[in-house]
Amino acid sequence: MSNRIYYTKPSITDLEVSYATDAAKNGWGDRCYDYINRFEAAFKQHLGVKYAIATSSCTGALHMGMAALGIGPGDEVIMADTNWIATASPIVHLGAKPIFVDILEDSWCLDPIQVEAAITPKTKAIVAVHLYGNLCEMDRLLVIGQKYGIPVIEDAAEAIGSVYHGKRAGSMGKFGTFSFHGTKTLTTGEGGIFVTNDAELYENVLTLSNHGRSRGQTKQFWPDMVGFKYKMSNIQAAIGCAQMERIDELVSRKREVFAKYRKQLTQISSVSMNPESEGIVNGAWMPTVVFDLDANISREKLQMAFSADNIDARVFFWPLSDLDMFSSVESNVNAWSIPKRSINLPSYHEISDEDIERVTGVIKKLYR
Ligand SMILES: *Cc1c(COP(=O)(O)O)cnc(C)c1O
Repeated sequence: MSNRIYYTKPSITDLEVSYATDAAKNGWGDRCYDYINRFEAAFKQHLGVKYAIATSSCTGALHMGMAALGIGPGDEVIMADTNWIATASPIVHLGAKPIFVDILEDSWCLDPIQVEAAITPKTKAIVAVHLYGNLCEMDRLLVIGQKYGIPVIEDAAEAIGSVYHGKRAGSMGKFGTFSFHGTKTLTTGEGGIFVTNDAELYENVLTLSNHGRSRGQTKQFWPDMVGFKYKMSNIQAAIGCAQMERIDELVSRKREVFAKYRKQLTQISSVSMNPESEGIVNGAWMPTVVFDLDANISREKLQMAFSADNIDARVFFWPLSDLDMFSSVESNVNAWSIPKRSINLPSYHEISDEDIERVTGVIKKLYR
């Protein structure tokens, strides 16, 4: 049997190892925040935002940001039905209700018309998730947010490297969040970050992130409110600092792998892949193929064909409203239909051209 092709695998060089080693040996006492501060500074500069707080996960960053916006029991938060549950769970933990709306057929991201139609007096936020590196229509969503006085949050966990008309994903909303889980383009093992340009929101989240102890508090062990504990460790941040030095390389390799797939697979007339329209750069976290309805190629058929060839391929996100803990919204036609005829392709940094050929070969064979 041929070697297994994994769908993701981080790129860890001697640089990451040397920084992590230094943090483990020396990053204590006075120096216990050095790499964290450096990582936050590098990330802010990369994104072009004023404030950043490194966290233990993207989910934690979303939880604190939403708490700081005052989202709570009885409130509604609008998000796409197509997504990983991590965006919905903080909403539920805060006692609010996620409202699942449909996605656009080409970008697989929030449909702004559906967003506007879902707004009620209870709506407290709109979460724009840039799925697989594809960008939401931020201009339209921000206009809707402004019109109704509702903040637009960007969950950019999958969109490091994506740029929307000159602005980086995660830098346009009320706040943005990223994930550095081992499957993401930039990794710290587990980890995340909260970013914003809003000074007041930053102060609130900073206090929440420090068990509710505000910066100005001079009394020791004196929390000013009940907060959270979602911090990134200095050792994780050390790995992150090395990855940030390599961010352009990490993103351009993702884009290169995506381009190789796109060149071969979009020749097939009934296949579409992640879009990249005028004025947009797709960070290409997860190259994905979607078959037209009439091609008659199902998710199950795709999964079987890939596993027969020892290739890891991931299913397109199930509609969240299909899960047992939520009520189903089958009127979200695209969110319910697209996953049934789609698959995510392996795209890690060191994937070889031969392995890319093997992956495209599976699809070409199925199609014939
Ligand atoms: C990966 C991911 C998350 C969760 O990130 P964690 O760091 O694992 O909490 C959240 N939202 C989206 C869209 C993701 O892809």
